[in-house]
Amino acid sequence: MARIRLQCSPSTSQNLPLENGHANTGSILKIIATNICGSDQHMIRGRTTAPSGLVLGHEITSEVIEAGRDVEFISVGDIVSVPFNTTCGRCHNCKEGKTGICLNVNPARPGAAYGYVNMGGWVGGQAEYVMVPYADFNLLRFPNRDQALKKIRDLTLLSDIFPTGFHGAVSAGVGLG
Ligand SMILES: [Zn+2]
Ligand SMILES: [Zn+2]
Repeated sequence: MARIRLQCSPSTSQNLPLENGHANTGSILKIIATNICGSDQHMIRGRTTAPSGLVLGHEITSEVIEAGRDVEFISVGDIVSVPFNTTCGRCHNCKEGKTGICLNVNPARPGAAYGYVNMGGWVGGQAEYVMVPYADFNLLRFPNRDQALKKIRDLTLLSDIFPTGFHGAVSAGVGLG
């Protein structure tokens, strides 16, 4: 299987799919920081059916530059972390906290992510801009903009690395000592 080419920074806010039915609940974000995930390696090294040119990136920390008309709790200028699962926040699974298998964001199967093969087609965040649907549910707003920007590289761990590790530790019953 051919290796895919990692594509960075092709997006502008003008060509993001705000017209795809998520304009009202979605937000356009300008990327401040992102990570390359270990799971991106599966696509980069050709172990998946990812098409060439796929914009990767599901570990996104950003500034909100546009918000749809139905976005209530997120404002332009907010500094936000984007959890790596794309979710609706309103289906049965999301309400049970099983956001990894949201029923409304991937026509092919439950569960979706940004910039990942067969995960709903959401454009990834290893780019200049990204569109996030259901912004009120998907975005974690940092309460203090200046404080967040000072610690932005630490906060970038919140979208995947830190919670994934924490979940693993809790699930394994890891304790002190
Ligand atoms: Zn990741
Ligand atoms: Zn859902």
